[in-house]
Amino acid sequence: MLSVEEALDRVLTAVPVLGTEVIPLPDALGRALAEPIDSTRDLPPWPNSSMDGYAVRSDDLQGAEVSRPVRLRVVGEIPAGAVAQRPLRGGESYRILTGAPLPPGADAVVPQEEVERDGDQLGVARPAAPGAYVRPRGEDIRAGDRVLEPGTTLGPAALAVLAALGRPVVRVYRTPRVAVLSTGDELVDIGTVPGPGQIPNSNSYALGALVRASRAHLQDLGIARDDPDAIEARLRAGLAADVLVSSAGVSVGDRDFVREALDRLGARVDFWKVSMRPGKPMTFALIGNGGTARAGASAAGPSERADRPFFGLPGNPVSCMVTFELFVRPALRRMGGYRVIHPPRVRARAGEAIDNPGPRRGYLRVQLAGPPERLTARPTGEQGSGILRSMLLADGLAVVAPDTRIAPGEPVEVILLRDEGLGGVRDDGGA
Ligand code: AMP
Ligand code: MG
Repeated sequence: MLSVEEALDRVLTAVPVLGTEVIPLPDALGRALAEPIDSTRDLPPWPNSSMDGYAVRSDDLQGAEVSRPVRLRVVGEIPAGAVAQRPLRGGESYRILTGAPLPPGADAVVPQEEVERDGDQLGVARPAAPGAYVRPRGEDIRAGDRVLEPGTTLGPAALAVLAALGRPVVRVYRTPRVAVLSTGDELVDIGTVPGPGQIPNSNSYALGALVRASRAHLQDLGIARDDPDAIEARLRAGLAADVLVSSAGVSVGDRDFVREALDRLGARVDFWKVSMRPGKPMTFALIGNGGTARAGASAAGPSERADRPFFGLPGNPVSCMVTFELFVRPALRRMGGYRVIHPPRVRARAGEAIDNPGPRRGYLRVQLAGPPERLTARPTGEQGSGILRSMLLADGLAVVAPDTRIAPGEPVEVILLRDEGLGGVRDDGGA
C-alpha cells in the first residue's frame, strides 16, 4: 500500500497547473501571482519630509544654540501634493508638510516642535544633521527591484505595493473549479427527514466548505445512488470542472461503484488505497479528454485540455475531511499556482497519551493549547472515522507512526488545520 508521501507525490506530479488571467487589483486578494513584479519606479519617487516642519539647508544651522538660535526666512509653503516654487537659498526655509517633496537645495527638515516662528522669521536653536527627517528617493523600493515572485499569495501588503507601483490590474493563476459528488443509497439531503436506514448527507457540505476555504469554486453535483449509471451521469455533469471529488463508494464493498463509473469514463486510476488512518480507501485517477468527448456538447470547457484529477474520498465523514486536507487541498493549491502548497506544521508535546494502534500512519485530531514555543496537543476525544465531533474540536492533525503510543510530554508533529488566507484564527479562544 502506498505511503501518504508516495501518494501525495503522485498527486502533485499529475495535477496540471491552471492557466492565468488578468484581473482588477482589488479582486486579487488571496490569489496566486502569475507574473514577476519588477518595480518600474523609485518609491518614494522623490526625497520627502517625514514630519510637519521646515525644510532647511543643514549648513545654515551649524553652530545653532539655544542661546544663539539661527534666524531663517520662511519663503513659502509646500503642502503634500505641491512642489516648491523655487530652490532654497542660503538663509531660507520652506514650511513643509509630511509627504511633500523636499525643495531643491534643502537637505534636512526641522520638526515644527523645535522652532520658534514669528511671521516669516524662524528661530532654530539646534543644528540639523543632513538627511534629518527626510525620506530619500527610492528608500522603500528602487526601479528595477524584484518585489514579488510568481506564486506569491497576494495579501494586503502585496496589493498595497502593486497599487504603489500604479498597477490597476494583475496577472494571477486561475481559480480551480471543483465538482463535488456524494454517493450512497442511504443519503438524504438536508431538509428531508431521514427515513428508516437513511442519514443526512453531510459530506457534500464538508467538502463544499473545504473547497471554498481553499479559495476554489464549487460545483455541487448532489447525491448519486449506489449505481454505476447514476454515478457516471453525475460525474459527466462535472467534466467541465478542473477537479472532481466524490465521497464514499470507493471501498471494495458489494455496492461500491465509483471504480466502475471511472472505468466507463475512460479514467486512468493511479492508486486506490493509502496507508493512513483514517482514510485508507482513497482513489486518485485522471479523467482524460475521452471523458469530455463522450460528454459531447454538454462540455463547457475547451475541447483540448489537461486531464482532470479525480479524488474518490472515503465516505466516513472524518476520513473524507482528512483526506481532503492531506491530498485535495495541496493539489488545488498546486493547480492554482501557489508556491506554498502544504499546510503549516508545528511541534507540540502530547498533553495526554496519543495512541495509534495498528499498521497504518495515524492522523489524529488534536486540540492545541499554550504559547507557540510550548504547545501541547490533546486528542479531541473518540477518534473513530465517523466521529465528526473530533473534527469540530480539532486545531490540527497529530502525525503518529504505526503502532505507536506517544506518552504525555513526548514531542509530536501536528499539521495545522486552517483556512488559507483567513489567518487561521479561531474565534472561540482555542489557543
Ligand atoms: P462507504 O464509503 O460508502 O462505505 O461509506 C462509509 C460510511 O460513510 C458509511 O457509514 C456511510 O453511511 C457514510 N457516508 C457516506 N457518504 C456520506 C455522506 N455524504 N454524508 C455522511 N455520511 C456518509
Ligand atoms: Mg456506501
